[in-house]
Amino acid sequence: MRETRSKGNFPGGTVMYGYRVVDKKVVIHEDEAQIVRRIFTDYANGKPGNVIIDELNEQGVLYRGKPFAKTTFYRMVVSEKYAGIFRHGDEIYTNIYPAIVPMEIFEIVREKAEKNKYGKHKAGVCYLFKNKLTCGYCGRPVGSGSGTSKSGKVMRYYRCNGRGTKHGCQLLPVRKELLEELVVNAVQEALQKTDLEALADGILEQGKKIAEDSSVLNLLTTEYEETTRAIDNLLRAVEQGIFTQSTKDRLEQLEARKTELETKIACEKARALQMITKEQILEHLHAALKRSPKQLISYFVRKVVLFNDHIDVYCKSIENHDPDGNDSHREFSFYEVKMTVEVDRHTFGGEKEKQTYAIALWI
Ligand SMILES: [Zn+2]
Repeated sequence: MRETRSKGNFPGGTVMYGYRVVDKKVVIHEDEAQIVRRIFTDYANGKPGNVIIDELNEQGVLYRGKPFAKTTFYRMVVSEKYAGIFRHGDEIYTNIYPAIVPMEIFEIVREKAEKNKYGKHKAGVCYLFKNKLTCGYCGRPVGSGSGTSKSGKVMRYYRCNGRGTKHGCQLLPVRKELLEELVVNAVQEALQKTDLEALADGILEQGKKIAEDSSVLNLLTTEYEETTRAIDNLLRAVEQGIFTQSTKDRLEQLEARKTELETKIACEKARALQMITKEQILEHLHAALKRSPKQLISYFVRKVVLFNDHIDVYCKSIENHDPDGNDSHREFSFYEVKMTVEVDRHTFGGEKEKQTYAIALWI
């Protein structure tokens, strides 16, 4: 299967609307692709999904022989295959589905579609930490919930998705507004009180360490040296008259590997050199300072890890935070603050209690 995928062949299953399989390859079916393009363009331009569906159905355009259904429509507009991307686990293949829609349009449409779906479910309530909040105890995502107080007021909470499961989690629910206020205040305070120049230097320093700690490069270099040594030894054997078909094959293999390694080493070195500049970092930090609370979170906060008495807030050092890296060694804490608040832990009839949160900001 892996070979099928890396050859760019159709991996099986149902081929997407807009495509056909010809000689094991996925090819664009031009008539259907026109419909796909029209759906994406109209939706990106702000035409509501149900209007687009109605129009298609009025014209008699069918989806696999049936009228377009709402679920079909929404599945289509979030499918990356239309932008040429096929995922298998963590692997991404761009050689299987040819793109029908440009990536820029696809991103606009996907964002709209996801917002729509979300908005419907939550009746317009905006959860600032949607998809960013993780439980510090069990590692599960922290979701949202609501309840109605004795006075009939709707109370919204963030609560661990592991609560109420068999191995119940110890994270206590937190009022939505309270948690959002705590984190927004801490981030704003941190940006105002931190010496941004020094912070930028710290981020640069960290970047250098990552570039230097190039374990991949070391591995490649070691293998390159070993390969070169093996080639030398074989050549010496050839000089002494030991020459068989197998030595010849082995030599060719080694030479090929050596060339391959040279390319890989060059790529790895180039990657390490792609460093961000201090100006870029400062620009990013100053831009964060100017944002409204809601924008600040989406622009500057990458992940929030919640405990009952402390909160770790992971910030983005630049807009395009390296997504493939392993986070653990590339982050450092740059600001810590303690805030005491009155919390109501969503226990019926429970009194409010004082809770001190230690909030740490990481970048
Ligand atoms: Zn949990």
